[in-house]
Amino acid sequence: MLESRLARWKGTEDAVVFGSGYLANIGIVTALAGARDLICIDALAHSCLLSAAQLSRAKTVEFPHNDASALADLLQTHRRGARHCLVLTEGVFSMDGDRAPLDALSDICEQHDAWLLCDDAHGVGVLGDGRGTAHSFAPVPQVDLQMGTLSKGLGAYGGYVAASTQVCRYLRSRARSFVYSTAPPAGPLAAAATAIDIIEQEPDRTRRPLELARRFTADLGLPPAASAIVPLLVGASETALALARQLRLAGIYAPAIRPPTVPQGTARIRLAFSAAHSDADVQQLQQALRVAGYSA
Ligand SMILES: *Cc1c(COP(=O)(O)O)cnc(C)c1O
Repeated sequence: MLESRLARWKGTEDAVVFGSGYLANIGIVTALAGARDLICIDALAHSCLLSAAQLSRAKTVEFPHNDASALADLLQTHRRGARHCLVLTEGVFSMDGDRAPLDALSDICEQHDAWLLCDDAHGVGVLGDGRGTAHSFAPVPQVDLQMGTLSKGLGAYGGYVAASTQVCRYLRSRARSFVYSTAPPAGPLAAAATAIDIIEQEPDRTRRPLELARRFTADLGLPPAASAIVPLLVGASETALALARQLRLAGIYAPAIRPPTVPQGTARIRLAFSAAHSDADVQQLQQALRVAGYSA
């Protein structure tokens, strides 16, 4: 069964599968946090984590992106007045490709009796031998709620959280998006289970996206890629759209990401390297960027 397969892979006691990653976050956060609780959320965390926090009615405070000491200060100030506390972050940030300092965040959560939820939509299949961002740290930090989607690195559809027996049991009876929404169909779940087998058995596939991304960032003089996602920041939305159009004409699909998805003035081309890309594909991309006049 996929849930026990996920739990074994993630190193937790159990896991719960939801209809999608979005539904998973909505269900987990609203089941575990309410009006008397506190939620601390990374300023760049995915929109569905923010929606989930708002829906929970917990007091919600943002901490500056990846700033563990700012989180510690916030908890120092706000933790005492709250019953439970959840800290929400992504493992790999979807629009920047950088990684959360899960080791430091986990320590701070432990010190302040808070639970850490890591949305690892973009870490699975790429980091930590494909097991996700937490598994790229040694020792592996305690992440109470390892959440993710079956739809990105795993190529199927659905969402999940890997956690303790007790938390999973609670979520199965309290997470409204689990209880009141149909489970995903068997086909995509079987595909996800097979994808996990492939990730475990063919480690070259999980290494390749980061290798390609690192080679690309080194060639262009960009900061070294931390994941398969590499943003090319260009500033204005029109510039990003024009560059995306030029790349498209050269046979490359690389979307222009603009405000409000990213902060004002940080429009970008978002590149996502995959194991299916050949060396020639990456050369073609570099050539197209040169022709378009892009420089880092
Ligand atoms: C895509 C994504 C989700 C939503 O997952 P779905 O399965 O597509 O609903 C949640 N969080 C992050 C960070 C994502 O990138």
